[in-house]
Amino acid sequence: MKVQIPRGTQDILPGQAKIWQWLEEKMREVTNKYHFEEIRTPIFEHTEIFARGVGDTTDIVQKEMYSFQDRSGRDLTLRPEGTAAVVRSFVENKMYGDPNQPVKLFYIGPMFRYERPQSGRYRQFVQFGVEALGSQDPAIDAEVISLAMNIYREAGLKNVHLVINSLGDKESRAKHREALINHFRPRIGEFCEDCQNRLEKNPLRILDCKVDREHELMKTAPSILEYLNDESKVYFDKVCQYLTDLGIEYTIDSTLVRGLDYYNATTFEIMSSAPGFGAITTLCGGGRYNGLVEEFGGPETPGIGFALSIERLIAALEAEQVQPDIHNGLDFYVVALGERAKDYSVKLLSELRNNGFSADRDYTGRKMKAQLKSADRLHAKFVVIIGEDELDAGIVQLKNMETGEQKEIKLATFIEEIKQFAV
Ligand code: ATP
Ligand code: MG
Repeated sequence: MKVQIPRGTQDILPGQAKIWQWLEEKMREVTNKYHFEEIRTPIFEHTEIFARGVGDTTDIVQKEMYSFQDRSGRDLTLRPEGTAAVVRSFVENKMYGDPNQPVKLFYIGPMFRYERPQSGRYRQFVQFGVEALGSQDPAIDAEVISLAMNIYREAGLKNVHLVINSLGDKESRAKHREALINHFRPRIGEFCEDCQNRLEKNPLRILDCKVDREHELMKTAPSILEYLNDESKVYFDKVCQYLTDLGIEYTIDSTLVRGLDYYNATTFEIMSSAPGFGAITTLCGGGRYNGLVEEFGGPETPGIGFALSIERLIAALEAEQVQPDIHNGLDFYVVALGERAKDYSVKLLSELRNNGFSADRDYTGRKMKAQLKSADRLHAKFVVIIGEDELDAGIVQLKNMETGEQKEIKLATFIEEIKQFAV
């Protein structure tokens, strides 16, 4: 038997899991302030949801999905991203009929992509994302972007910056599409096979190619911003204006097209500029996807969202050497010496826990000194020492591990007394 974790996955061990919990809590806090509510969709969906929702010409659908047939021959796929499933649920549960519009949702959970694993790129990774469905107001674009920026700020990152672009509306994109085809067609033979296929299907995606990114035609490609019609331009300017009002700095990059097919109008990425951060610097990507709800049979509904992975956020924290403010959470460590004291500690631990404290003890028969060392290693705030003599006298020793102060406490009033100060 191969006792080995699958390639591209990782175990989050207890010490690391604390950082995850801390981050998840931060995300929930921030999201709550923006009044987005959690939605939980299944880990797998009908393959078609992603094929149509993410788009047939994307890397995700063409190369990265974990698809399988169940025992009844259904085509299913482990979710590679969150938006398609959220929109599926939005339509299926008729959330477009909810009197409170836009519907503001967030999700957090594992995603699966068959990719070449490298730093910041896993086959199972956790995405946090938000979706605001039902509003075509540039203020909601700015709100969604500011939510993402706030998460990074709250996590303690300093070196993040926002890159933004507009893909315009249908009309703008149709004109730009023609220009792109004319631009690339004469020399498309010099591009990779994927790009050759993209030329007619979705030439915009050529700009997102990772193989041909250095080709000179990439640099001279017609910019979408020059093809925005008046309406799209006004919308984009308004988003930028709001960002400025919010004190969010940004750069405009007209080549930012994003990986998913359904994007239009506003697109954005948040990058890490921390020195020492790996080659992949994108922490978060998002944008507007008007048209996706219709694709799934719902009424015409605009939407905007983003997704970020916790793995890359943690990598950025490491690159910036941010120390999360994490407490071990252990209030009491009970050191019991002798059989009777040990027996008593079972009850004492339970009492402590029932009164809202976290408490632990030794279960491996270690000597007093070793037990105190454990208490120290576990960053226990207090140590309760019970010996046989103390037990007979109805007292325990309480040591404050921070100040080193030690005092005697009567067992009869133990809980009442510690409640005075151990909060
Ligand atoms: P990339 O260009 O890095 O492949 P993408 O366009 O595929 O990114 P999205 O689908 O937009 O990424 O996902 C949003 C975010 O999820 C990314 O910005 C990144 O932080 C994270 N992410 C994407 N793929 C992975 C992965 N395989 N492992 C860890 N995080 C990932
Ligand atoms: Mg990708």
